[in-house]
Parts: sequence; C-alpha cells; structure tokens
Amino acid sequence: MATTTRQATIPITEVEHAAFCKPEDELPAKSLAEEFAVNIRWQKIPNEYLHYSAQELDQRINSARQKLGSTVTILGHHYQREEIIKYADFQGDSFLLSKQAAERPEADFIVFCGVHFMAETAGILCAPHQKVILPNITAGCSMADMAPMDDVEDSWEDLQEVLGDHGGILPVTYMNSIAGIKALCGRTGGAVCTSSNAAAVLEWAFQSAERVLFLPDQHLGRNTGIKLGIDPEQMVVWNPFKRLGGNTVEQLRSSKLVLWQGHCAVHTRFTVKQIQAARERFPEVTVLVHPECTRETVEAADMNGSTELIRKTINEAPAGSQWAVGTEISLVNRLALNNPDKTVFCLDPVSCPCSTMYRIHPAYLLWVLDGLLQGQVINQITVPEDIRRDSLIALERMLSLQ
Ligand code: SF4
Repeated sequence: MATTTRQATIPITEVEHAAFCKPEDELPAKSLAEEFAVNIRWQKIPNEYLHYSAQELDQRINSARQKLGSTVTILGHHYQREEIIKYADFQGDSFLLSKQAAERPEADFIVFCGVHFMAETAGILCAPHQKVILPNITAGCSMADMAPMDDVEDSWEDLQEVLGDHGGILPVTYMNSIAGIKALCGRTGGAVCTSSNAAAVLEWAFQSAERVLFLPDQHLGRNTGIKLGIDPEQMVVWNPFKRLGGNTVEQLRSSKLVLWQGHCAVHTRFTVKQIQAARERFPEVTVLVHPECTRETVEAADMNGSTELIRKTINEAPAGSQWAVGTEISLVNRLALNNPDKTVFCLDPVSCPCSTMYRIHPAYLLWVLDGLLQGQVINQITVPEDIRRDSLIALERMLSLQ
C-alpha cells in the first residue's frame, strides 16, 4: 500500500484563512503597509509600493493600463475586493475567466486577479504566446492545497489496487485543484468539473465506472451525490493521512463516491444556526448558499448553487425580495450594492473574506503592470507541457458534456 498513517499537516493557507475577519460589515481600503500589519505571508514588493494612498494607486494603475493598451487583459474573480474588481476587463468565476483569456489572443499578458489554481487554468487554456501573471504569488487556495500531488498519487495507486478488479473508479476533480490533479484526471479517463456542472460530470463518470473519487472538496462532492440520489452510506471520506484513507477494503468496495477530505475555509463557516437567525430576523427571507457549504447548511437553505447562479438569481429577483447569502463576503457586498431595491446580506455576521483572494491588493496590481511597462514579467504562472496537455484532456471532457 502506498498510503500510510502519518501526522496530519494543515496547509499554511488554511492556518491563515481567518486573517482578515472583522466584526464590522465594511472592509475599508488601506495602504499595503497597513495591510502588512496582518501577520501572514505576503510577497515581498519594492518599498515604494507600500505607502501609496488609494488615490495614488488608482491614478497610477489607470495610467499604466492606458500605456499598455490591449496588450494586457485584467481578469477579476467575483471574490476579489472592490478596489481590484473595478479594474477588471472581465469578471467571472474561475472557468469563465480562463475562457475569456483564451478568447482574447491580442492580449499578450493576462493579469489574473484571483488565486493560483485559477491562473494555472488560464495558463492551460490560453494561447502559447500569452503569459499569465498572478499579482501576489502568496494568493493560493486552502482547498487546493489540501490535495497535494504526492498524496493524491499515493491514494490513486491504492484505490486502483483495491478497486481495479471490482468495478473500477474514475477521478473527477473540481476546478479548484492544482494542475497536476487535472492532468491525472486527463490521463486516467476522468474529468474536471465546476460547481455548476458537477452533477452532469458525475453522471457521465458513473457510465464508465462503478465509483468516483471526487477531489478536493468533500462538501461539493457529497452535496452533488445527494442531489443525484446516492445513498450517503455509500459515500466514504478519504483522509490522506491514514492508510487507505481511513477506510477498510470492504467499505471502499461497497462505496459509490470516495470524497477527498478537503474543504473551503470560507464556505464551511456558514451554519444552520446562522440560517435560523436570518429567518428569525427576516421571516420572508430566501436563503441561498454555495454547494461548498456543509450538507447540513445546504439542506437547511432554500436554494444552493454556483457563484454564477447566486449572482444571476439575486440580480434577477423582484424588487423588495430578501436574500441571506452563504458565499464569499466581497461578492455578497457587491450584490447588495448593485441591488439597492432588495435586501441582500451575508449569513455570517462576521466579515470574513477569502484571505488568499484578499491578498491581491491594488499595490500588487500596480507592481506587475509597472513591471510590464519596463519589459519585465513579474510572477508569471507556467504549467509544464505534459501537465498542460493532460489537464486539457480533462477540461475538454468536461466541456464536451455541456
Ligand atoms: S473561497 Fe475557498 S475555494 Fe475559493 S479560493 Fe478561497 S479558499 Fe479557495
């Protein structure tokens, strides 16, 4: 067996996940020097960028963009802070943004204001001449970091050994994973999925194997499995720090879904208690949460769906409607701002932005744009050719299902 029982390790991005949580609603803009007071990992940046005021940053970013013209495209994920999203040529979820990058071949440089796995995906989908830049290299994703390549390869080897002659297993990975895992899915007949198409991808996978290994988010996997009518008794959690993921051979052989033990630190903050409190305050409220929330939270909510579904639902809702939302606070605040005729608020009374998304401060954006003006590509994200090729197979399988 390749897997062994060993000491559990917590990714540094998970340890730092609550770094920017505040009791108040507002997340006011600060200079980078002030942000550095939050004692987490920050990428080193030349001193001059630490002290620019919000106005100076705004003026310099606009001027750099004007000089760079259409050679640069700035992509902004929905979870980015307001002071960043305003510069985005396109806003979207990770997959939509990566497709945007590929559809803009005139842009030699893609500045991806999001997290590392998103920039990697853009690097896989874009044209060979395009270079993808992540403004702050410490902007990782704690969920993606919970599935490192060595652990996944060891686990996959054991699952093959135990299940190979017993109906087999296919890997399906959520977009929020490192490129190496997407490539493993491509090589082994599996696919990538997003939170919008996870059910369709799982249904497809069950046509060729009796079981699916779902990585790296156990909650999206479980919530999707329940939606498809899979008995929760046939879902096992794979703990990468235990031999055979903490399961017996019999448990694995009678399972349908093997759920990698990963989670999103942002979405697992939402609780049934918060839903009850929202309903007490607003009896007419509709509770809408992301499927990365726990099963209990999803079941207690009125609706659940992807970031794009949450946006569309609230933007198209009738005036006067009330929405309690379980997703990242920067997006919820933006939805509230853009829908003044509705009541939109976050389920969590504490403002807890995704701490890695939040690390894309305007000073970092200016730094990489200034670099381009000086002919320097700072923080380019590259994917080795063999990984790119195999990841693309898994991404294309997903696309062929739409
Ligand atoms: S919100 Fe969750 S899944 Fe998304 S980047 Fe942050 S930690 Fe990762």
